[in-house]
Amino acid sequence: MQYINISHTEQKVTFPQAVVTGLGKGQGLFFPEQLVPLEGVQALLEMDFVSRSTILLQHLVGDAMTADVLQGCVEKAFDFPLPLVAVSKQVHALELFHGPSLAFKDFGARFMAQCLAGFNAGRQTTILTATSGDTGAAVALAFYDQPGIDVVVLYPQGKVTPLQEKLFCTLGSNIRTVAIKDDFDACQQLVKRSFDDLALVKMLGLNSANSINVARLLAQVCYYFEAVARLPQGTEPVFSVPSGNFGNVTAGLIAHAIGLPMKRMIAATNRNDTVPRFLDSGIWAPRPTVATLTNAMDISLPNNFPRVLELEQRHGLPLRDLLTSFAISDADTSGAIRALDAQGYLADPHSALAWKALSTNLDESETGVFLCTAHPAKFRETLEHTLKRSVPLPAALEQVSEKEILSSEMPADFKLLREFLLKK
Ligand SMILES: *Cc1c(COP(=O)(O)O)cnc(C)c1O
Repeated sequence: MQYINISHTEQKVTFPQAVVTGLGKGQGLFFPEQLVPLEGVQALLEMDFVSRSTILLQHLVGDAMTADVLQGCVEKAFDFPLPLVAVSKQVHALELFHGPSLAFKDFGARFMAQCLAGFNAGRQTTILTATSGDTGAAVALAFYDQPGIDVVVLYPQGKVTPLQEKLFCTLGSNIRTVAIKDDFDACQQLVKRSFDDLALVKMLGLNSANSINVARLLAQVCYYFEAVARLPQGTEPVFSVPSGNFGNVTAGLIAHAIGLPMKRMIAATNRNDTVPRFLDSGIWAPRPTVATLTNAMDISLPNNFPRVLELEQRHGLPLRDLLTSFAISDADTSGAIRALDAQGYLADPHSALAWKALSTNLDESETGVFLCTAHPAKFRETLEHTLKRSVPLPAALEQVSEKEILSSEMPADFKLLREFLLKK
């Protein structure tokens, strides 16, 4: 299986090359050249999660990895539960937040970490990543204690929640965290500057492990199959996905392209509604990003959307029939948190937003699944404010909340960061 750079289709690489380089020529995204429907989907659905995921990933990766190696990666990466919870007769919650960072990004980050550790075989690599909260924790925990890999996470000082900071800044070992005395954009700028410094890239073996890495995307295909496997045989659900960079939606569409039975998908956004307006009007007209209750989705330039269009243009997916997108206001998100709570289900704001888009767009004959992308306790302050009661912390968060922050501090100055990166 080849991976092509969708901006420069003459560039074709293997899966390991796509993972190690991250981005192609001219900042182009890598994507599988072919998406061939699987045979025997019903038999696949009857398998356990690890066996099935190994087969799915083998299908997508090709012979660049052996089945044994892939199975090892899958077992180590996906070592936490993945419940499908019935919220009402027609509607189910797919809980993707039971991994170590309590967000669905664990699936992609942990699978990518396993792949990289294998592909690098002894070569020293430094993962440099900027985070506004969730990604930093998923990446740091995924690479923690991986031999040959150093991780440096930049984050805006005082602009991540105290609990988020505790999750990724207390690890030590091969994880270094830097509180930048500026905003998230400045952190991202520093990462970009570092990747422009080719001498630095070479010396450190830099890789950013960010959400455009194709390994992260492939990992996410697996849980869509698991959801259908748990539903009564023959069910073709409607999936609703809380969307920011549109990686999660892309993974669902890939799952469908290789044969997963589903009726359609809903991409739910907050007020940062570039995609719903685009699907309505055909015009790509991003507006300045605004802050909302669902801050992991405060994105107006979704960096995976070119892959969604690729699925339509090169792989023939009937996007107009398959995908709708709705913007949900903060008021409706708060209402959804309360409505779900009244049904006995505590959802974080991102998951509640996806439920809202689903429940207002589901026919009586349909079965819906909404993706729960973060543990409710991660957004405890919002939930306590909305529900007027206290929300308990899970044991994992309780534990880290006692630990000491190990971060360095730095102004947003590339020369200082460069020294820091080389010092070790
Ligand atoms: C990253 C994130 C999202 C958005 O996912 P995309 O794949 O970028 O669309 C949604 N919810 C939570 C909690 C997240 O951390």
